[in-house]
Amino acid sequence: MTTGRPTRVRTHRRVRSRTARVLLALVAVVALIATALVVVPMLRPPGPRPLFQLPVSCGETWQLSTYPGHDDYDVDLFPTDGEAWGRPVLASYAGTVTVAGVNGSVGGRNPGNPEGPRGRGGGYWVKIDHGGKWETQYLHLLEPPLVRKGQRVAQGDQIGRLGSTGNSGAPHLHYEQRRGWDKVETHFDGEPSGITTDEREHIVKRTSNNCQPG
Ligand SMILES: [Zn+2]
Repeated sequence: MTTGRPTRVRTHRRVRSRTARVLLALVAVVALIATALVVVPMLRPPGPRPLFQLPVSCGETWQLSTYPGHDDYDVDLFPTDGEAWGRPVLASYAGTVTVAGVNGSVGGRNPGNPEGPRGRGGGYWVKIDHGGKWETQYLHLLEPPLVRKGQRVAQGDQIGRLGSTGNSGAPHLHYEQRRGWDKVETHFDGEPSGITTDEREHIVKRTSNNCQPG
């Protein structure tokens, strides 16, 4: 004997399975779009190396150094002349600021209290995306950065002042160049710095050609 009830149940099942198919199709489309937007750019090879300049004022000579336990390719910059505190820190190349804030903790070191409590990590820092998977990082700045996240900067724009925030012994600029996920040997004005390992102390001197056009 038929009552009509089973038919209704079957109809509901059909509607539910159609909804499930539509949802599955939607999920597949979203996954495809996510793949196109996220994975494909990740697989793309890096672009050519930008013509990075020393992140300090045009014409000044600075000491580039590393020490055991620093990390391969990391560079610490100290001026060879004059006071280090507060010296302008400049963008090595044009790009977009992706980080402008605090790495770890700031601590209490400043020109009035150079031996104040050490912070942790990089202190005030800036990261700039130069496109083509190239980025630069600037750590231990004296004060909050002079730029903000998302801001476009030109080569030579001042992004902060040199300091000793974070885990820093003396006022200096810790600086890195990265290609994709990897740190690489820093190049300045087209020349490799020669700082490729932290197995031993190593110091070179370079003069900044970070001279803004005009
Ligand atoms: Zn360093």
